[in-house]
Parts: sequence; structure tokens; C-alpha cells
Amino acid sequence: MTIGRFAPSPSGRMHLGNVFAALMAWCSARSQGGEIVLRIEDLDPQRTSAAFAGQIKTDLLRLGLDWDREAPWQSTRTAAYDEAFAKLESLGLVYPCYCSRSQVHAASAPHLGQSEYVYAGTCRNLTAAERAAKNRPPCWRLRVPPEAWTVRDRLQGDYTENLERDCGDFVLRRADGVYAYQLAVVVDDAANGVTEVVRGRDLLSSAPRQTYLFHLLGLPAPTYAHVPLLLAPDGRRLSKRDADMDLDALLSRFSPERLLGILAHAAGLLDRPEPISARDLASAFDWNRLRKEDIFLTLP
Ligand code: GLU
Repeated sequence: MTIGRFAPSPSGRMHLGNVFAALMAWCSARSQGGEIVLRIEDLDPQRTSAAFAGQIKTDLLRLGLDWDREAPWQSTRTAAYDEAFAKLESLGLVYPCYCSRSQVHAASAPHLGQSEYVYAGTCRNLTAAERAAKNRPPCWRLRVPPEAWTVRDRLQGDYTENLERDCGDFVLRRADGVYAYQLAVVVDDAANGVTEVVRGRDLLSSAPRQTYLFHLLGLPAPTYAHVPLLLAPDGRRLSKRDADMDLDALLSRFSPERLLGILAHAAGLLDRPEPISARDLASAFDWNRLRKEDIFLTLP
């Protein structure tokens, strides 16, 4: 049985790009008779809130995007992340990094993805004495090998990174103790029985890190499909900052069915932007019709 998921970070209202990714995840799972799990990714207490989580749930339901069960929120899952972290430590793959943000940036190359960087490995081989001489709390990084790691993406094809060269040793746990998204998402996708991850293309460059963690932790990895991002007519990615793309504003202009029809048409799934329910769209859903490239969206 296919188990898909919504994994929103409650750091703001959903914008249309989030809605589109959720719609594709829902349609894919439902078109296979599968289930959807909702998991609130509130790892970072400073940037997320229960109020946003509540709004996101309401927004999903207004669009007809329901779920079969809700997984525990990430803020309650520290014990499970501790266990995975300890396992990686026992493999000798975790080390403390004392670099400040500006030191990391000064010594790094850009990550193959987008806005990230490849850590230069400054703290990789510090001696115990060198560690003891540092006087800041460390973050914790995973030592990665110089190995090509390929993710098979249903929509984007094979995506390969050399873990050491293109990605670098990445953070598992921040200096303030908050676990990194990369670790939490892997532990939770496995715990929630997720078999299929459908999400925005901006996360494609995280997929090799995640499948590598599944491998190290001996957990079953899901399949992946990274769907196009929505772009404003000037080519900018839609973001939570675009007030006119906030769902409240949009639903005051369009019915849910009209909005879904506009999105499905822009994505190549419908010949015309006619109103459609989520359920009918799932019946007609076809990966072969869905566009791979990012989508310029002009609202009528
Ligand atoms: N919580 C992440 C976000 O809202 C998504 C994580 C994922 O889909 O893997 O950007």
C-alpha cells in the first residue's frame, strides 16, 4: 500500500507553491488507493508555532486535501532522534564542529543544490586537545564519504551527488540542541511508514543526504518525486512573503475547485483551467502529464 505524506513546517501560512506540492502528494497517493499521513515539522521552536499548524490543517481541508492519520509532531520526537544520532555516533561518523556561521561560509564552496554550501571539513580531524581548547558549544556533523550517491526521482530522473565533493559533511544537530531537518525527516518518514515522498523540487538536493541516512540507519527509504516550483511572472519563486499568494487571499477570489483547476492546468494535468475537485483530479492524475520544469503562474 502506498503511504504518502504532507510534512509542512508551521512557520507561516501555506502559499500556492506549498499547496501545489501537497496537491501532487495527495493525488499521487489517492490515485493508487493509498493513504496520506500528516506530519507537522515543528523542529525549530523559534520559527514555528501551533497557530500556523492549525491554519495549515484548515487550509488543506478547505481544498479537499485530507489525511488518514496524523503523525506525532516533530517537537515530541526528540527521543527517537537521540536514538538515531547515537547509532550514527556508534558508527564513528559524527563529530563536533566549532565553526561559526561566518567561518563556515568563508571556507566553503556552494552546494550543488542552491542556497547551501559544502562544508570544507575544518573540524573533521581535530584532536581531543584541540576540541577541548574551543570555547563554544559545537554543532554535530556527519562525516560523508567521497562516494557518488544516486537518487531515482520519478519525475526528475536520476539525481547524483558525490557526497563529499558536492554536499560535504552536513549538520545533524545544531549547537542549541535542535536536530536538523535531514535527520528528523528520515527517522520520521521511516517511523510513519511513508513509502512515497512527493514534494517541491527545492528539496531534490536534500534527497541524497536523506537516502544516505536511511542506508546508514538501516531503514527503508521511500520513493521520491520532486515536483516543479511555482514562479511569479517575473521568475521569482513564490514564497511565504507573497501576501497575494496566501491562501486566504486566494480563496477570497477563487473557489477551491477553481484554484485547483488553475494549478492543474498550469502543471499540464488538465487541458483547460476548468474547476475540478481534488478527488476528480486524483482520478485523472498521470505522472506522465505532469511538467518537470518550474511553472510560471499567472492568475486570471
Ligand atoms: N517541512 C519541509 C518544508 O515545509 C518539507 C519537508 C519534506 O517534504 O521533506 O519545507
